[in-house]
Amino acid sequence: MSKVLIAKELSRHYHVSRGFMKGQATVKALNNVSFGLEAGRTLAVVGESGCGKSTLARQLTMVEQPTSGHLTIDGVDIAAADSATLKKMRPTVQMVFQNPYASLNPRKQIGAVLDEPLLINTSLSKAERDDKVKAIMAKVGLRPEHFHRYPHMFSGGQRQRVAIARAMILNPKIVVADEPVSALDVSIQAQILNLFMDLQDEFKIAYVFISHNLAVVEHVADDVMVMYLGSTVEYGQRDKIYSRPLHPYTQALLSATPAIREEDRRQKIKIQGELPSPLNPPSGCAFHKRCPHAVDRCKQEVPMLRTIDERIVACHRVEEIN
Ligand code: SF4
Ligand code: MG
Repeated sequence: MSKVLIAKELSRHYHVSRGFMKGQATVKALNNVSFGLEAGRTLAVVGESGCGKSTLARQLTMVEQPTSGHLTIDGVDIAAADSATLKKMRPTVQMVFQNPYASLNPRKQIGAVLDEPLLINTSLSKAERDDKVKAIMAKVGLRPEHFHRYPHMFSGGQRQRVAIARAMILNPKIVVADEPVSALDVSIQAQILNLFMDLQDEFKIAYVFISHNLAVVEHVADDVMVMYLGSTVEYGQRDKIYSRPLHPYTQALLSATPAIREEDRRQKIKIQGELPSPLNPPSGCAFHKRCPHAVDRCKQEVPMLRTIDERIVACHRVEEIN
């Protein structure tokens, strides 16, 4: 199947002031990231906050254009697109946020919230739009009488259903979901994840699922990309990565995830220290100050991504430590 999303050496750098008399610094918020995604499949992007996940989401939703590299969405090169093309392309990629309450206008009834994207992006009549709103509400498990209710009248899970309906109503090819269940009660999380999966099966949507929660990711992802300080450290099929993580950072993240089955329990690996400032990233391997396997070479040389055991991984010592 052809890919609906292709990123090739995608980078987004920002110039920021270091403060009075200290001049400018370049923050490599996203650095040479490459991946591909087919219709109906899910790529999970995993890492701590500050790893580049939000910057990636802004490029995918076309809010910002990349500094360099290529981003092809539904066959269109976004990095080279003019503003008219970007405007036409924007409905193709929709976003679901972590906190549905913050992303819903409290003064608007749900019917109006869901009508808005249709009003802006289509020339459908009021009656046609109402039909579409009612149809999508039914798909996400909302009832007809919810049409005239306000966001505060809903539970967190129902509000996330509204946000999902709003994202789906323009028939997007890609949905970027940024921690879409982490604000919800655990008992509700599974329902919302199942809703995502059902909608994907029905409409063949490609998901980019941003999450730090590897237990959630295991349920939804086909492929997993682990990021650290703007760069990919490991990327491949979920089963490959979960059954045998090769990068020390992936290993540490997975070891901290509560395992469901006894045989999956791993020895906990503690990541030392804090995520370094992106303003002043460490030399060589950006992970070296926190890595239990770091040697001198790691401080000097940036590890390149290499294909090992059917995934790509950036670590000088993969063969020695695994
Ligand atoms: Fe650790 Fe060195 Fe591998 Fe980086 S390159 S992850 S510091 S062993
Ligand atoms: Mg799937």
